[in-house]
Amino acid sequence: VIDRAYFQPADLEAALSILAKHREAGIVAGGTDLVVGARSSDKTLPATVVAIDRLKELGRIETSGDGGLQIGALATHADLETSTVVQGSWSALSDAASLVGSPATRHIGTIGGNICNASPAMETGSPLLVFEAIIELASKRGLRRIPIGAFLTGPRKTARRSDELLKSIVLPPLPRPGVTGSAYVRLEYRQAMEIAIVGAAALVTLRDDGICTEARIALTAVAPTCVRASPAEKVLIGSTVDADLVAKAARSAVGQANPIDDVRASAQYRRAMVPVIVERALRLAWNRAKDGVSK
Ligand SMILES: Cc1cc2nc3c(=O)[nH]c(=O)nc-3n(C[C@H](O)[C@H](O)[C@H](O)COP(=O)(O)OP(=O)(O)OC[C@H]3O[C@@H](n4cnc5c(N)ncnc54)[C@H](O)[C@@H]3O)c2cc1C
Repeated sequence: VIDRAYFQPADLEAALSILAKHREAGIVAGGTDLVVGARSSDKTLPATVVAIDRLKELGRIETSGDGGLQIGALATHADLETSTVVQGSWSALSDAASLVGSPATRHIGTIGGNICNASPAMETGSPLLVFEAIIELASKRGLRRIPIGAFLTGPRKTARRSDELLKSIVLPPLPRPGVTGSAYVRLEYRQAMEIAIVGAAALVTLRDDGICTEARIALTAVAPTCVRASPAEKVLIGSTVDADLVAKAARSAVGQANPIDDVRASAQYRRAMVPVIVERALRLAWNRAKDGVSK
């Protein structure tokens, strides 16, 4: 006999009290990873489930006074895809959200669930890395802030403690709003309901004379977690961006790729595709930054 318990708290405080008492509990937001995973694999649902869908305060996307962005853990991919603020200033994140599953998946799947599920092929990971996002974890003990790169510790592994709930994601202000462009691109065999074979996010900031003052690149599905490709970023910073430099930076991103063979692609193919996808993401980010410079 399995002793099961199901909680559906009405506010954050109640949710944190339940998590403090039931350390073994599993959190369910949209359920598109947790429930689908339990149905399709040998993983079972946790005996104690805390459903957080009623915590409406966690669904907001709000700009902060300093020019950053605060995204509640329950914001859905559809919310991110359609938010004009996200589209306009944090484009890599709306690019990524718009690729997740189908319209049905995007309307119920949340950014918090995507992050806490921590798949190496997760769509939001690389955009959050290039935006240097801070993850806010709430518990009865208080609020803990941790950079996204430190939060994602391995495939399906995070730094979340058992009594913590991912409350929100904070994006610091962009390096130079208006002349910073970002993009996320993934390699996929078909155009919907696909998992990234290789993905890349890029952020480029330009000075009025076209010199790149900031470049950030992150890779998806080619390492145990999404990873920054810092040596490739250094190729761009301080130089006038042109097509050759973009291609050079993209080639040097391969150094950060440590892919595996799986049913979707061999490690060799993934490695070969890294420069192709990074170049596409960089070109898109660069063009979006140039649009800002020319305005
Ligand atoms: C058909 C289909 C297609 C998909 N396509 C894609 C795709 O293209 N790209 C992609 O990246 N993903 C895809 N996914 C995976 C999934 O939809 C996303 O990862 C989604 O964002 C998960 O969100 P959720 O709210 O449904 O998470 P849930 O299933 O509710 O939770 C996922 C995990 O996160 C934990 N969790 C959730 N919220 C919190 C929180 N606030 N605090 C702490 N822990 C929490 C849960 O305990 C669980 O371990 C797909 C899934 C399906 C079923």
